[in-house]
Amino acid sequence: MSQPVLVLNSGSSSVKYRLVQPDTGESLVDGVVERVVDYRAALQQVFDAVSSVGVSTDDVMAVGHRVVHGGRQFYRPTLIDDALVAKLDELAPLAPLHNPPAVLGITEARALLPNVPHVAVFDTAFFHNLPAAAAEYAIDRDVAAQWHIRRYGFHGTSHQYVSEQAAQFLGLPLESVNQIVLHLGNGASASAIAGGRPIDTSMGMTPMEGLVMGTRSGNIDPGIIMYLSRTAGMSIEDIDVLLNRRSGVSGLGGATDFRELHKRMNEGDAAAQLAYDVYIHRLRKYIGGYLALLGGADVITFTAGVGENDAAVRRDALAGLLALGIELDEERNLSPNRGPRRISTDTSPVSVLVIPTNEELAIARACVDLCKVA
Ligand code: ADP
Repeated sequence: MSQPVLVLNSGSSSVKYRLVQPDTGESLVDGVVERVVDYRAALQQVFDAVSSVGVSTDDVMAVGHRVVHGGRQFYRPTLIDDALVAKLDELAPLAPLHNPPAVLGITEARALLPNVPHVAVFDTAFFHNLPAAAAEYAIDRDVAAQWHIRRYGFHGTSHQYVSEQAAQFLGLPLESVNQIVLHLGNGASASAIAGGRPIDTSMGMTPMEGLVMGTRSGNIDPGIIMYLSRTAGMSIEDIDVLLNRRSGVSGLGGATDFRELHKRMNEGDAAAQLAYDVYIHRLRKYIGGYLALLGGADVITFTAGVGENDAAVRRDALAGLLALGIELDEERNLSPNRGPRRISTDTSPVSVLVIPTNEELAIARACVDLCKVA
């Protein structure tokens, strides 16, 4: 059996970890250290958890670090050295909420485990070669070039993993399938993938673009930002907090968690119902848009917390689309089965699947591939 890989996701206030057996996909231990101020102390807790299942940290094959933003430069899993850490530091302005804690986590983990290879896996990587028509914003090209403004896309590890699993589930070569992947978690994004290559995705320069999310607005008219600044007198920081943390289904409906949102809707809460309706409306627009970009899809796959668990969201996102070849099987959609599964009818021209995402396993396998070559 191969050695396990420790996967770390160092966020602004938490460190998520999982010790993964890359060949079997087995998770040996996982958890979250919350309210992190001292990353070294947090990692010490992670290593204690690793030791508690009888694995010495010296026996870990590699530590895989999830890094949100790779800019234009980084898109392959990359062995971390001092020069890379310095370059990641330079990327901080592109992802001020996400990259600095990842760099801190990497720095401390390397100090604590200097003899184990550390690998950075970028959330933007899968979308590195988006066609220019999808990647570019229609703004002054010199300004865009000077400030590296373009659509990078996020959740790439998940979109790639899930699209590969979907093709495998259908028993079809990845190169032959047109797919739409809907990653609906707290953050949410959609992608259109033709033959294994993404041709569009809903998140952009930052993870704020696109779908309605737990606490983020997704698409809004950019004029709103100028209006809030000029007329409402809000600072850029206020607007950042508004759109990142006080928006989405939470801002509209008062609850971030879809279980709570449904509970309130069932009690007749109009705000919760509106939040849900706006969420579904936006989702359907993306599905329709991506069907047009792809010229029709073979498979639509739901993943992440909401996508894997919320049958109502899946039903409402695809209701009434028989004319587009999409027919859900209500009973399959409601099945409590948690594994990869088909929820369309056997005669539906478009297959609709639910596939649990597993970003940690994908990161662990990327580490193995890199260490094999190195
Ligand atoms: P993250 O983006 O933080 O990784 P997840 O993919 O874990 O998020 O998704 C978390 C969200 O999934 C929760 O906020 C909640 O809205 C939703 N969720 C989790 N379990 C269920 C469930 N059983 N039914 C409906 N929604 C669920």
